[in-house]
Order: sequence, then C-alpha cells, then structure tokens
Amino acid sequence: MRDLQYYARECLAEVDRLRIPRAKNITFTVNTRAKTRLGQCRKTGDRYVIEVAATLLDERAPLKEGLKDTLIHEILHTCYGCMNHTGRWKQYADKVNAAYGYQVKATAKREDGVIPAELDTPPKYKLICPHCGAEYARYRLSATFEHPERYLCGKCKGSLKGAKRLVRKD
Ligand SMILES: [Zn+2]
Ligand SMILES: [Zn+2]
Repeated sequence: MRDLQYYARECLAEVDRLRIPRAKNITFTVNTRAKTRLGQCRKTGDRYVIEVAATLLDERAPLKEGLKDTLIHEILHTCYGCMNHTGRWKQYADKVNAAYGYQVKATAKREDGVIPAELDTPPKYKLICPHCGAEYARYRLSATFEHPERYLCGKCKGSLKGAKRLVRKD
C-alpha cells in the first residue's frame, strides 16, 4: 500500500513550486467505498478534505496517472474560484501538466482505464441495448435499470424497452 500522506506532501510541494495559491488547511483521507469516483474535494468551514479512492494506493495502480494526477486535480480545487473545471482551475491544471508532465483532466473516472481491471470491482448491474448492444454498467440500482422502457440508448438513440438486464451475484 502506498502512503497517501507521503504522496500528498509531494504533490503539495509541486503545486507550491509553481506558486499556485492553494489552500493551506487540507486533510487527505482514503475512501474505501468509492466505486466510480477517484477523488473528491469537500469544503467544510475553512477546511478542505480531499478523499482518494483506496484502489489508487495499491502498488498495481499507476502512480502518476492514477494517484498523483488525482491528488493534483483535487488540490487545485482548493484554490480560490476553482470549485469547477473551467477558467482558473483549467489554467492551473495546464500549468502543472506542462511543468511536470501530468495529465490532470477535468474528468477522470475509473472508466478511463486508470485503474487496472483486476483491482476494479465489477459493476453489479448491467443493461444491454436491444438494438445496438451498447452496455450500461451501474454500481447501484438505478431508474434506468428498473425502467429501461423510459430511456433511450445514448449510442443508437433507440428505446431501451426490452433491454437485457444482468445482475452480478456476489
Ligand atoms: Zn474535479
Ligand atoms: Zn443502442
């Protein structure tokens, strides 16, 4: 297991070296329950809490494109006016990427393939479009899964009525 606090300090130092004005009071914690999110930044009072998915601390997950990209992404959210992914946040992300060769992006999800497949928990629910075969994976029971007939396939725009529904058994 990687030491989260060690890499958090390393990323903070890299951000500081570029004189990006990040918040000073940030706490870093591990989220063992996160299924789709790699990282999250929350503001409570005048403090920030950054959570990263536990799988990023596994030695088999990529360090730079996984843990460090996620840490930098979330640290930049603590800068003034940076709770979104445009304007100032984007400028800082570009700066860090150029300086250190990171690939900090607006959206980084497990679906991007950052986490090796063997570390990833397979989704419990899967819906398959009856027309084009597109697959929709869900970790939780969703309205789409329960009532596919009310939705259109994002790929072929056909109705999901009659879509095949698969539930993984644990
Ligand atoms: Zn973000
Ligand atoms: Zn379809």
